[in-house]
Amino acid sequence: MREAIARAEVGDDVFGDDPTVNALQERIAAMLGKESALFVPTGTQSNLCALLGHCERGDEYIAGQMAHTYRWEAGGGAVFGSIQPQPIAHQADGTLALADIESAIKPDDPHFARTRLLALENTLGGRVMPLTYLRDATALARRHGLAAHLDGARLFNAAVAMGGDARANARAMAELFDSVSVCFSKGLGAPAGSALVGSKALIARAKRVRKMAGGTMRQAGVLAAAALHALDHHIERLADDHARARRLGEGLQGLQGLQGVNVQMPQSNMVFIDLPRERAAAVVATLRERGVLATGLYQLRLVTHLDIDDAGVDHAIAVLRDALH
Ligand SMILES: *Cc1c(COP(=O)(O)O)cnc(C)c1O
Repeated sequence: MREAIARAEVGDDVFGDDPTVNALQERIAAMLGKESALFVPTGTQSNLCALLGHCERGDEYIAGQMAHTYRWEAGGGAVFGSIQPQPIAHQADGTLALADIESAIKPDDPHFARTRLLALENTLGGRVMPLTYLRDATALARRHGLAAHLDGARLFNAAVAMGGDARANARAMAELFDSVSVCFSKGLGAPAGSALVGSKALIARAKRVRKMAGGTMRQAGVLAAAALHALDHHIERLADDHARARRLGEGLQGLQGLQGVNVQMPQSNMVFIDLPRERAAAVVATLRERGVLATGLYQLRLVTHLDIDDAGVDHAIAVLRDALH
C-alpha cells in the first residue's frame, strides 16, 4: 500500500483533475452498481453529504438509536442541514422493526417534519444485517416515498460475513439503496478516506456539501491510491479478521458470568464485552498499559483488523483474562 501511495499519479481534485481520485470514484461506483461516486476524507463527512444530499431544511430522517449517523456524528445533519433525526430503538439483533419504521413515518401534515429518508447501517456494531431485512426495509421506505441510505462504513465486512462472493453481496446490498457510504480506512486498511456512491444528481449535491464542509482535497490521489490498493487486495482477507475475532471471543468464554462480565460472540470483526460501567475505564487503562487497545464507552469493544495477527489475539486473550478477573 505504501508503494501504491508513492507511485500515485496526482492532480488537483478541486478541479476534478486528479486521475487517481477519478479512477477510484469510477471503480467504487462500478463495483456497487451506481452512476457516480465522491471521495471524501471521512465516513462522517460521507454520511453528512448523504443526509444533506437527500434532505432539505425541515426534513427528517429515520435511523436506529445506535446508528452512527444519529449517535456518533455530533448531530451533523441537524447542525449543518437543519435535518431532524427520528431515532428508533433496535431489536435484539440490531434491526429496526418494520412496524416501528412505518409508524415513525409522518403523514403529510403541517404539524410534522417531512420524513424523507431511511438511513440503515451494515455492519451495525459488528452485527450483520441480512439481505432479506435490507430488502424489506428499503421496500417499505419506497412504498412511502422515502429515499434510502446505507452507512456501509463496514459494508465489506458484512459482505464477507454473508458468505459466498463478497463483491456480489456488496453489490446486492447497494442495489437496494439510493446511496451507500463506504470507508476505506476501517477494515480495508487505508490511512484515510471514504466514498459516497449514488445517482449523478445526488453526487452533484453531495459535492457541494463536501466543499462547504471543507472536505475537497487537492492532490488526494495519494489517498485514493491506498483505497484502490485496498479494493484490490483487502476485501476477501476480511475473513481472516472475522476468524480471529471468533478465536478471541472463544478464548474469553471462560470469563462468562464473572462479576457481571458477558462476552458477545462476534458476527464479523468486533468482540463486545459487557461489564459493569464503573469498571470499564479502569479495565481499558489496564489493557492499554499491556498493549491492548479497546474502547469502553458503552461496552468494551475489541476490533480485529489487518494489523492484528494470531499472536496479537493470543496476547489479547491473556491480558483480558488477567484484567477481567
Ligand atoms: C467509522 C464509522 C463511520 C465514520 O467514519 P469516520 O471516518 O471515522 O468519520 C461511520 N459509520 C460507521 C458505521 C462507522 O463505523
